[in-house]
Amino acid sequence: MTEAEIAAPRAQGGAWSFLVAGDETQFQGNAGYEDVVEESYSYDSTVGNYRRVAVGDLVVVRNGREALGVGYVEALQVLPDQEKVRSRCPFCRNTGFKERTRELPRYKCSPCGNAFDRPTRETVEVTAFRAHYGGTWQPLDGCLDKGQLNELSLSRSDQQSIKKMDRTRTLEAITSRGVRMPSPRESTGTGGHRPAELPGGHRRTWAALRRGQSGFRRALVRQYGLICAVTGAAPAEVLEAAHLRPFAETQSHRVEEGLMLRSDVHRLFDSGLLAIDAGLVVRVAPSLAGHELYSAFSGTRLRIPSDAPIDRRVLADHHAATVATW
Ligand SMILES: [Zn+2]
Repeated sequence: MTEAEIAAPRAQGGAWSFLVAGDETQFQGNAGYEDVVEESYSYDSTVGNYRRVAVGDLVVVRNGREALGVGYVEALQVLPDQEKVRSRCPFCRNTGFKERTRELPRYKCSPCGNAFDRPTRETVEVTAFRAHYGGTWQPLDGCLDKGQLNELSLSRSDQQSIKKMDRTRTLEAITSRGVRMPSPRESTGTGGHRPAELPGGHRRTWAALRRGQSGFRRALVRQYGLICAVTGAAPAEVLEAAHLRPFAETQSHRVEEGLMLRSDVHRLFDSGLLAIDAGLVVRVAPSLAGHELYSAFSGTRLRIPSDAPIDRRVLADHHAATVATW
């Protein structure tokens, strides 16, 4: 397998969204590789826009529902002369048929309406590409949904795997949701830079698997972005969905009874060392006065919009019960 690398970044970088099948942290093999979503994305010369992706470009990885994460293309592998098996509808030769999970025959072609068990397979020669972005990857955890991504997209088609995005507006949108991008990494171009060894890959993958994403957290991320309500923007890895009253008590997953909190702040909240009053002002236990890292937040206003859907009565109950112990 020959392998080349395009290492010349453009002066003005572009922006793209890459569509992956299914949910986060899945392995998939677009062009016969196994990609880890947090590290790299493979595509081939049958995909629209395949020629235009370049080192330095911003890429948002999305599934059909939401944005999974974002990074800058740090290296691009080019693998010429790859064979790819393509499946076609045996009736109309179209490739736009879907696999069904509940009905037989297994495949149904929407262009011609026929159903069938076995598609026609053909082998085509393609050039395969693998874009690496793991070293700058930031999880988005769905803080932008499909509709918001469409607004940032410069292509109307829903079918495209690689869609052009408005780079400036995309960066603004993710920044406003608490995401902090590192600088794009300069590829050295000396040949000593091995994409397979780009940092930031597997370590983050395991973190994402452990972190999981409950429906409650997803709803709060969509509401508040990747922003701790007490301390501000923070990496997705340390942001938790906090229940404002013990979940065991209520069994409630109402967004109105939750906040995004950094894990240490969450722990203080649950331990009765930090509370938020009905005026959305943070209060820190007097016993933490010696810990400036935390006492500094006492008296600060919660970092959520004034019209945020929060149940102030539930906050006030927690506040009253908590300060009573101080
Ligand atoms: Zn057909």
